[in-house]
Amino acid sequence: MSQPRDKYTVVIGLEIHAQLSTKSKIYSRDSTTFGSAPNTNVSVVTLAHPGTLPYLNKKVLDYAIKMGLACNSEITRKNIFCRKNYFYPDLPKGYQLTQDKTPICIGGTVLIRTKKGEKYVKLNRIHVEEDAGKSIHQNEETDTLVDLNRAGVALIEIVTEPDLGSAAEAAQTMMEIRKLVRYLDVCDGNMEEGSIRCDANVSIMPKCSTVFGPKVELKNMNSIKQIKNAIEHEIDRQVGIVEAGGEIISETRTYDPATGDSIGMREKEELNDYRYFPEPDLSPVYVTDEWLDEIRNELPVLPEQWRTKFIEEYGLPEYDTGVLTDSREIAKFFNAVCQETQNYKAASNWVMGPVKSYLNDHKIGIDDFPLTPKKLAELIELIDSGKISYSSASQQLFSAWIKTPKIAALEIAEKLNLIQESDSDSLEEVVREVVDKFPDKVKEYNKGKKGLIGMFMGEVMKATKGKADPKITNQLLRDKLESVG
Ligand code: ADP
Ligand code: MG
Repeated sequence: MSQPRDKYTVVIGLEIHAQLSTKSKIYSRDSTTFGSAPNTNVSVVTLAHPGTLPYLNKKVLDYAIKMGLACNSEITRKNIFCRKNYFYPDLPKGYQLTQDKTPICIGGTVLIRTKKGEKYVKLNRIHVEEDAGKSIHQNEETDTLVDLNRAGVALIEIVTEPDLGSAAEAAQTMMEIRKLVRYLDVCDGNMEEGSIRCDANVSIMPKCSTVFGPKVELKNMNSIKQIKNAIEHEIDRQVGIVEAGGEIISETRTYDPATGDSIGMREKEELNDYRYFPEPDLSPVYVTDEWLDEIRNELPVLPEQWRTKFIEEYGLPEYDTGVLTDSREIAKFFNAVCQETQNYKAASNWVMGPVKSYLNDHKIGIDDFPLTPKKLAELIELIDSGKISYSSASQQLFSAWIKTPKIAALEIAEKLNLIQESDSDSLEEVVREVVDKFPDKVKEYNKGKKGLIGMFMGEVMKATKGKADPKITNQLLRDKLESVG
């Protein structure tokens, strides 16, 4: 039986606010340091004292343009700032200084990958604006405290087109955007601290229809899991209403992860009357060709560019490229390892496996990892040349070397007695002894029971305490067994 959900097309658009990591606020010199004592980063500008003027922080536009270039947006050359009037209890000016008709970035795309394949999610715009302060409603007290430290902190708002068809696509888009702002170093991407927040607009329409249904806005979600769950819940809720013959009202709702339910906050006014008008105290800002070139030159290698390189030059599988491009630092480190070794797949396995586990266990970033890319490549070389086995390298040498990275790997391997026996003269001796010891098995082997090679290998390993090079041993054993058979 088909589920009621299958009868509907889901339409989702995201509005993502990312707090820019500039040192000072967007229209004043106040510090943006997170966690300062309440109301300490507030000058007369933030407090909107009469006669104070906004003072635009150029870095904010640099960062927004960076993001736009990374998304292939068109950059607006003449930027006008507007007052968005509203009663903001935690923004003393009584209006938010934002961009209305001239968002700094127009259009563009963000590439996502889901089970359904690749998709270029269309962006509507990216604009800059200021954040509001924080109202703190303490326990049951009737008073509300206001902390204005955050008031005036720079934000970019990234608005997608209603182009997403599932909670999975919405979550993936959010993750890609978070990855991008981190690569570009324009926002720390920390969802828990609210540095990047997401509102999701959700609607449904019958499969045969092309007319969007009324949208419900889910406010301020601060984890990927919450975005997914809230959207899934909202789709079910809307399908339930429509199936029961009801109508969806366009409204703003908040999802409570604790109850798994959402509650309505306010119905969307038909016409939001914000009385936008140009800020008379800020002149238009013109983005010149030189300015654009300067920023273009500062762009780092982006995840997609790394991915293409890793696939085309290093022949890595899709899965590996996803893990290795997850952060700019890891991608760079991995690429540096590949400058020192040709065994790219081994390099990938080392970075994705032992290296990442070490970073997680010690809660450090790759920049603080004790082994250089060159050293990691040496380790790979030691294995490839047959001097040590992968298991002793990953289980013993790796952790020992991390503790004393200045000592040569070979020296540590020798001390730990990890060097494999690959001297074929002495190995041949051992192989001969083992073969001589089991004449019956040799006969069976030569009658066709080739699986017995494993048993012989085991015996050689036992005799050499695991230090025999498996490849050479295997060859020597085959030669020997056939010659006596
Ligand atoms: P508003 O004027 O209500 O803020 P916008 O047109 O500016 O609406 O769109 C806000 C966000 O809602 C955008 O991300 C857009 O993609 C999304 N959106 C617009 N219409 C719909 C819809 N019918 N269903 C889902 N999302 C929508
Ligand atoms: Mg809007």
